[in-house]
Amino acid sequence: MQTDADAIDGLTKCPRCGATEISLNQATGNLRCGFCRHEWQAVNAVEAFGLDTPIEQLRGLVLGSGATTIESTETVRTFKCSACGAEVVVDTEHSTQARCHWCRNTLSMNQQIPNGAVPDMLLPFRVPKDAAVAKIREFVGKRQFFAHPRFKKEFAPENVMGVYLPYMVIDVNAHAAMSGVGEHELRRYTVKVGDNHETRYDVEIYQVSREFDVHVNDLTVESSSGRLDQRVSANTNNIINSIMPFDTANAVRYDANYLSGFTMERRDTNVEHLMPLAQVQAGDIARYQANSTLAYYDRGVRWDNERLDVVGQRWVSAYLPVWLYSYYQRKSDGSSFLHYVAVNARTGETMGSVPINKGKLLAVSAVVQVIGMVLGTIILVVG
Ligand SMILES: [Zn+2]
Ligand SMILES: [Zn+2]
Repeated sequence: MQTDADAIDGLTKCPRCGATEISLNQATGNLRCGFCRHEWQAVNAVEAFGLDTPIEQLRGLVLGSGATTIESTETVRTFKCSACGAEVVVDTEHSTQARCHWCRNTLSMNQQIPNGAVPDMLLPFRVPKDAAVAKIREFVGKRQFFAHPRFKKEFAPENVMGVYLPYMVIDVNAHAAMSGVGEHELRRYTVKVGDNHETRYDVEIYQVSREFDVHVNDLTVESSSGRLDQRVSANTNNIINSIMPFDTANAVRYDANYLSGFTMERRDTNVEHLMPLAQVQAGDIARYQANSTLAYYDRGVRWDNERLDVVGQRWVSAYLPVWLYSYYQRKSDGSSFLHYVAVNARTGETMGSVPINKGKLLAVSAVVQVIGMVLGTIILVVG
């Protein structure tokens, strides 16, 4: 699926006045002309790429051009400035935008070069920075009591960074089949065994099988290996996952003008690496859907055989917007640990980790324990 068919590298102009000073208005999620204040939005990705074709019609593997295998490790590209003709270098490792040194125009790269730097679509920031700062302040405020004093002293939520994180957004057309054993309770009663009473159950045992089509829309999987790696950043990974979901249906076709003022992470994994993970998640969704038909088996169903045959799947790459406040906690042994507070820049959902004052935590749990012991003693005495 060619998603950059009519994308233009180089200079983007305001459609109303032709000025080139274009940036994102964080309050609306629109692009804004710095000269005439005209606002507009890049075309919706669902419409532009036909992502709304029914999932049951998906066959085989469909890839957006921004989701194809990363071939080039080259990160530096040269453009000719279309305003003055100068040659300008863009380091796609850090941005897909650069200013022309001569005429100060901003040049953007919108074509999906095969190094993972340009995704098919992106969700613009819509929670402004000051709102994100307030969210982070509130989040940390609630955890103030146990927070490390040094963290409290150095806490500066204004240092929050807007980051576009790379994801794959996946539609899956699959067929699920599962079979196993289910139990339904007929009655329960108590019998006396020696001096004890025991509960007994009469149950019916059934062979249970389910077979159905599964249509998964916009399954969202991280495509930066640093975040996928559980060992290195289990903490960060969980934080980012817990501020999901994103309203991916509102993603726009990639336009580098949305990036000014933000940093971004490059996708560095390919579809074949992420496919097993997507398959597991689609399987979980199928199992969860089957649950709604299993109410009769009140003692549960054990699946002995489960199959998920993927008939068709569609992968597009996306940048999703997150405000990140990070804090390096220096430990007494010289090591450091990275803490994060992350804000979903579409919904405002906030999650994070705050360094803990271990002494205070231990003291409080000791007090709680003592109170517990005292209460226990009183109850014993009263009893
Ligand atoms: Zn304008
Ligand atoms: Zn120029």
